Amino acid sequence: MLSRLRSMKKLEDLILTYKDFPKKGIDFKDVLEILQYPDIFQDIILKMSSNQFLKNAEAIISIDARGFIFGSAVALESSKPMIVARKPGKLPGHILTRGYDLEYGKNSLSIQSNALKKFNSFVIVDDLLATGGTVNCVSRLLQDQRKEILGLITVIELSELKGRSKIDFPVKSIISL
Ligand code: AMP
Repeated sequence: MLSRLRSMKKLEDLILTYKDFPKKGIDFKDVLEILQYPDIFQDIILKMSSNQFLKNAEAIISIDARGFIFGSAVALESSKPMIVARKPGKLPGHILTRGYDLEYGKNSLSIQSNALKKFNSFVIVDDLLATGGTVNCVSRLLQDQRKEILGLITVIELSELKGRSKIDFPVKSIISL
């Protein structure tokens, strides 16, 4: 328990806050520093990969772009297939797209329909849950195609923004800030 508390403290120290990025009023929490500490990165991936709701999912869907870093490592560790939700103009072939509101603007996400067709149940992986708009967008894209979402796994949750309240499946975050 003590070592877990120590590693949580160390993790908290590694998440740097950039004030007023990318817009005034936003405290941007950057997960990239974690990647410079392989032991902590590995610890996070092991925790994310051992999550209960991942066990029953056919595949992982990870979200552009920091979500890909964690999603692909979790896919490898858990031996699950992974598909991606990407920002506009990045995916070839037939795509399904939906718009959403961010904490600091608007965006849209697309999924390749061929990839989506192959699986029925998903766990979503991203770096951070803020207002929940991004995850909600992916969730609507999947639900439109009658796909099941078993949960969301993130590294960080900004609990004050109450993203969980917008999501109708279980959420597991490694650290809540
Ligand atoms: P949201 O849709 O508000 O839950 O935002 C989640 C997505 O936007 C994640 O993919 C994050 O990468 C990014 N994001 C939103 N707010 C922040 C923040 N304060 N710090 C870092 N990333 C953020």
